[in-house]
Amino acid sequence: MSSQTPLMQQYDGIKKEYPDILLLFRMGDFYEMFYQDAVRAAELLNITLTKRRSSGDNPIPMAGIPFHAVDQYLARLIKLGESAAICEQFGEASGKGPMHRAVTRVVTPGTLVDSNLLAADQACLLMAIIEKGEECGYAWLDLSQGSFCAGGCPRAAIPDIIARLRPAEILLVDSMTLPTGGAMKFLPAWRFAADEAERLLIAHFGVQNLHGFGIVGQPLAIGAAGALLRYAKDVCKQPLVDIDSLRWETADDFVSMTAATRRSLELTTTLSGAKSPTLFSVLNKCKTPMGARLLAHLLHHPPRQRNAILPRHRAVQALCQSDVVEEVQESMAAFADIERIAASIALFSARPRDLVGLRTTMSALPDMLKQLLPAAQKDAKLAELSKQCAPVLPAQNILIEALAEEPAPTTRDGGVIANGYNRELDELRRLKSNARDGLDEMAAAAKAASGIESLRVEYSKVHGFFIEVSKSQARRAPAHWQRRQTLKNAERFITADMKQHEEKVLAAEEKSRSLEKFLYDNLLESLQEHVGALRALAAALAEADMLTCFAASATEHNWRCPEMNQNAALQIINGRHPVVEKQTAHFVGNDLQMHNESRLHIVTGPNMGGKSTYLRQNALIVILACCGSFVPADKALIGDISGIYTRIGAADDLAGGRSTFMVEMTEAAEISHRADAHSLVLLDEIGRGTSTYDGLSLAWALAERLLLKNNALTLFATHYFELTALADEQPAACNRHLSVSEHSEGIVFLHRVEDGAASRSYGLQVARLAGVPVATVERAGELLAAFEQPPATLPLFAAPATSSKSSAKISDETPAKTRPNLALQKLQATNPDSLSPREAHELLYALKELADEEDKKQGA
Ligand code: ATP
Repeated sequence: MSSQTPLMQQYDGIKKEYPDILLLFRMGDFYEMFYQDAVRAAELLNITLTKRRSSGDNPIPMAGIPFHAVDQYLARLIKLGESAAICEQFGEASGKGPMHRAVTRVVTPGTLVDSNLLAADQACLLMAIIEKGEECGYAWLDLSQGSFCAGGCPRAAIPDIIARLRPAEILLVDSMTLPTGGAMKFLPAWRFAADEAERLLIAHFGVQNLHGFGIVGQPLAIGAAGALLRYAKDVCKQPLVDIDSLRWETADDFVSMTAATRRSLELTTTLSGAKSPTLFSVLNKCKTPMGARLLAHLLHHPPRQRNAILPRHRAVQALCQSDVVEEVQESMAAFADIERIAASIALFSARPRDLVGLRTTMSALPDMLKQLLPAAQKDAKLAELSKQCAPVLPAQNILIEALAEEPAPTTRDGGVIANGYNRELDELRRLKSNARDGLDEMAAAAKAASGIESLRVEYSKVHGFFIEVSKSQARRAPAHWQRRQTLKNAERFITADMKQHEEKVLAAEEKSRSLEKFLYDNLLESLQEHVGALRALAAALAEADMLTCFAASATEHNWRCPEMNQNAALQIINGRHPVVEKQTAHFVGNDLQMHNESRLHIVTGPNMGGKSTYLRQNALIVILACCGSFVPADKALIGDISGIYTRIGAADDLAGGRSTFMVEMTEAAEISHRADAHSLVLLDEIGRGTSTYDGLSLAWALAERLLLKNNALTLFATHYFELTALADEQPAACNRHLSVSEHSEGIVFLHRVEDGAASRSYGLQVARLAGVPVATVERAGELLAAFEQPPATLPLFAAPATSSKSSAKISDETPAKTRPNLALQKLQATNPDSLSPREAHELLYALKELADEEDKKQGA
């Protein structure tokens, strides 16, 4: 170590404090990284890896980024889940050892509020999770909004909660593993200790205990909240006083969805991970970033409580009827992201131009409110929002008085504080700007002293004051002139008087720079007490923007206001899929009627017929309605839906070590454990990943369970025609099918959902449409005909044809009591291979009943 240069010793000292994250070390116009940081950054950012000569034996790996582009590189690092500490240099190089350096900010993916580093429409959440056995406690913090929440859940529910919150960074105990990607930070277990965490939270909120927050007796959640708050304070280097409450989150607040459901419904990302087309991308007509973020949040948290839904519907109605949407949106388009600006004020990191954005937005509010008035007069929620959207006057006044009209981007070079705000600053500025005022007198004096008529006296920021004389005249310079600079054709001189004046001007410049910095810090300080009000304003604006966006969609696409009730039922007339409809020239609307007497709909029809689209559109309509939006349907009566669960599409989870079939069954298991009578379940193809009979039996058993045990509202799309028999057995089950029109050349998809089962499968026709060679399709036709013949019974196992018992048939009419015995007789007498799928199922089912009977007897 002793062989290190003083600079590298300084670096090592600072790096020790940030061993796990990249340290960006300011050196002149660059931020340099050294050692492993340099190697990693070079790889991540694709920048050149060089070497720095040290006085020791080995050159040190080094990589740098120009200081003016730091935000751009930080944004990339954050996107990759990296964190970084930014170390600045202060003062002037003195020649005696390295300049003073210190870390001024740490950026981590979950604690950002800087609009330059973040996607405008995506919230940035920090989450902490702790587990104990099968239980978990968690907490999350949105620094932009100032929301801080905690909750508890079974360990198995954690992936769903992560999918709901989409945190940018997760804090975990170092012994914990999570089957999820993203930025994870591992902290020692003591950071999550409940006692310490409780003390920290109590001290932070300045309360006696945590009763008021409703999280008493929740040691895991308290531990997570404490660890999270401490981490956020350390990173932000601020006490975060504006985080002034902690909310206990209950699962009943919103329509519950599994991670797979959110993915398959493509709420905010497509199945392939793209940003569009999704429900969000189609719906988002918000004009402010905070409106867009609220919309994305809501799509993942559709409220269940009527009082959160109905006022939104009424507000959208009022907006549509008042014909104000276009103007209001035009005004809002100019608004700044005041939610993130308020947060950056709280963190003392707001830049001058952020504050200008805030000031301009506040001064534009009255006009927007005037435009909104006709709608606000019709609706209580809009009236309330209008009140909350008023400018925060004390903050606005501070900004008008203190902030320059068009301030410089940073406080570094001054030009940020308004003229007339501070007398001393005005004086210093005058001195600076009057620097040139005395030039004429100086020139006259110099001419008189030297007799050189052609000389010039000038001032420049770089060279200060000087007398410029041509080379030929230079020898006439009086002795008291000091030579300052020699140019090709001229000499420059300075006098003692000029030097004195120059020092005054330079001092004024330096003084005014530091005074401006001081005044700017004071300005941020004086805005602190208004952060709460600014946040409330941002929240109200976000809501108003989102409602206006709903109204714009409703008008543009002719969406209707849904009716909401408390039943476990859905009625949708001429419903459409909001995303597919946008991409299809003639979308065919379809109806849905589900209620207690009609809970299981088996949907059959050809591939490409529109089954998946139909299933999903109904779920999306429910989500839109709960978010407060109008819906793509002529009429919609939406009951109280507690959860939406989907099992759609086959996907391997190779990273998670699960095959397609395993994924499918895991999702099916989860649904059968979680769905209740108020759940909407969408099953699109179940059991396709295994042999036909395995798959069919599983599909059948699952459909029955959802119908009879879970009592859920289930839409079940399937190619197993055998399943349509369920509708004959179960009164609350029915068949629906996607209709097709057949021609001599092939089929045409009508995309219309009709009652009853599809008359047949159209796999071969669809294969032909898809371009499978005609000969292959014809051969498939021959094979199909052969497969559809009843298989030949193997003589060895053939049942004695004479046995009257063995030929007894199990049918719908067979009394339940006698079924098991009949089944046994049949099994003994029949070759199981000769059974049709339907018979095989009945047999299996009857045997299961028999086994259940036996179990019961034994239990008794
Ligand atoms: P598969 O059984 O092969 O999964 P599917 O029956 O689920 O097919 P979808 O994937 O829902 O069919 O739809 C196929 C295509 O048909 C869609 O991409 C869309 O272009 C079109 N489509 C679906 N529904 C409609 C509709 N109601 N109106 C118009 N076009 C539709």
